[in-house]
Amino acid sequence: MDQRARQYQQDVFIAEQVRNDQLQQLFRQSGSAVFGSYLAAVMLSWLCWGRFDHQVVGWWLGLLSASTLLRTSLFVRYFRSVQSERIPGRWEWQYWSTLASSAAIWGVGALAVMPPDDLLAQALVMLFAVGMSVSAVSCYSAYRHMTVMSILLVLLPSTVWLLLQDSTIQVGMALAALVFAFFVARATQKLSEALERAYRLSHEMERAHSISTYAAQTDELTGLKNRRAFFEHGHQLFTYCQHQRVPLCAVMLDMDHFKHINDTYGHQAGDEVLRQIGRVISGSLRATDIHGRLGGEEFAVLLPDTSLAQAQGIAEQLLRTIADLRPLPVYRITASLGVAEVEGSGQDLHKLINNADKALYRAKAQGRNQVVIAEPA
Ligand code: GH3
Ligand code: MG
Ligand code: MG
Repeated sequence: MDQRARQYQQDVFIAEQVRNDQLQQLFRQSGSAVFGSYLAAVMLSWLCWGRFDHQVVGWWLGLLSASTLLRTSLFVRYFRSVQSERIPGRWEWQYWSTLASSAAIWGVGALAVMPPDDLLAQALVMLFAVGMSVSAVSCYSAYRHMTVMSILLVLLPSTVWLLLQDSTIQVGMALAALVFAFFVARATQKLSEALERAYRLSHEMERAHSISTYAAQTDELTGLKNRRAFFEHGHQLFTYCQHQRVPLCAVMLDMDHFKHINDTYGHQAGDEVLRQIGRVISGSLRATDIHGRLGGEEFAVLLPDTSLAQAQGIAEQLLRTIADLRPLPVYRITASLGVAEVEGSGQDLHKLINNADKALYRAKAQGRNQVVIAEPA
């Protein structure tokens, strides 16, 4: 895959994660709004009980109860769902539709209960509607259009009606609400943009961190663990095996006459040989084994839960696979391997590797292209 395609794929991935974050934020932040908007309607009805038509109030609160129940069930289903099911495509439209119906019932209901000839009641209705708009900003801030839609649905019916009235106070109230809504809508744009930037940045930083961690632990040429990572993971494995009383073996591998390969075929051919050795090692071992390139043409493997005889078998198989490689133009390559096991307690990883290394030296001394087992202490 070329650089641009990979970059595009990463951008798409981060955009997806940002959307997931926005959805999570939406559900976490707006749970109280479900009951808040219902309570606001109850409180307004109570304050204006003597001024509102009771039958209209009854209808209004009844419909609001139904929409509140619907939204509550949506929240319950969301919070009961497993993390992998919390994807925007599944929840966003449900959220939009239940919020829109609830806000529309609120806004149209507020207009329906508003007595046409009672200025104080009209002012109170507008006060509550404006208050609802403020809380919408704090609840749906991750979704700018959602905030604007809910403000418009709550505020617009009463505001438009007031605008069409003759009295200056009524028109003035409506204009004030419109100006207010305009500022709120602008604020919500800045807020949602800042949130999206923050989410994006945090994911980009996570990504950069994992890339740099990978680079710091990986040998660029072979893709195996580098020396530092090998010993870091190796120490953990060693401690685990000691605690669990699980046998642990080490295999050291060094290419034979590698200098000659470089001198004869060039450094690049030598690099290709090392890449192929890396593939042989990572392809031949279990996921629980640890392997790495310790430097130059020297590799190390740790085999947990493996007896010395099994480790010898694995090393001999590696020897055969390497001997079968034909990394052109190099015609023939061989390696020498030393195998050692942890003997009793009081040993550490370096001692184990050292023992395997001594066995490797003997393999070299005895003519190379062979596996030698470390002598027992
Ligand atoms: P022996 O059989 O005794 O191990 O001999 P050898 O030639 O393999 O060992 P020696 O230590 O003399 O030489 C190792 C060579 O490996 C020398 C060095 O140039 C080469 N080498 C080390 N790292 C790399 C690398 O990353 N790429 C290539 N192409 N060669 C490397
Ligand atoms: Mg060598
Ligand atoms: Mg060497």
